[in-house]
Amino acid sequence: MYHYVSVPPADADAIRRDLSISPQKFEEQLKYLKEAGFTSITLHDLMLHLTMGYSLPEKPVILTFDDGYVDNYEFAYELLRKHGFTGTFFLVTAFQDENRPEYMSWDNVVEMHTGGMEFGAHSYNHADLRKQSVDYLVWQILGPREAIEERIEEPVRFFSYPSGAYDDQVVAVLRSAHYWGAITIHQGALHSSEYPFDLQRIRIHGGDSLGMFVDDINYWLYEKQ
Ligand SMILES: [Zn+2]
Repeated sequence: MYHYVSVPPADADAIRRDLSISPQKFEEQLKYLKEAGFTSITLHDLMLHLTMGYSLPEKPVILTFDDGYVDNYEFAYELLRKHGFTGTFFLVTAFQDENRPEYMSWDNVVEMHTGGMEFGAHSYNHADLRKQSVDYLVWQILGPREAIEERIEEPVRFFSYPSGAYDDQVVAVLRSAHYWGAITIHQGALHSSEYPFDLQRIRIHGGDSLGMFVDDINYWLYEKQ
């Protein structure tokens, strides 16, 4: 689970620094993953494997990016392609609609999708979706899905809960809107067809050294299971 891929501003607070990985560190991590034999897949690939037994590479990894920051286009996209990886990016589509400079544009989205990147929805405006009416949830869940589909001309099947917060009603609306699954901020690397709306991730911390990154990956992959 990545967020910003850039060097944070000098006055950034601890949260922003934790969410930000420098392009240099990100490239080190990609090089490690490649040398360790990992191959990136998409959430589509994962769900086709879990539900219908499609085969996966021996060491599959899904690289997710929340919020759709413009640095994902400027730095992550190029580095992913350079090292032969694909990424899955979750958009808060109000930010594209408003042309906010700190977020990727619709043109960036189309270019990255053409370049092999996967896109999902991360709500319309990053609101807390818990304890909301069905109408409100449809607006937050179906709206961004349709906006992305209109640009990439392909179905959007995955959702990332804003701030990882959700309840049963959110899952019910996602299911009725024909989403296949959703990713959380629960830590883990073991996925099951029983819990497609509670997919786990490993949080990548901006301050972590490469050694800490490697230890974290191996802990969740091999020790925790
Ligand atoms: Zn977010």
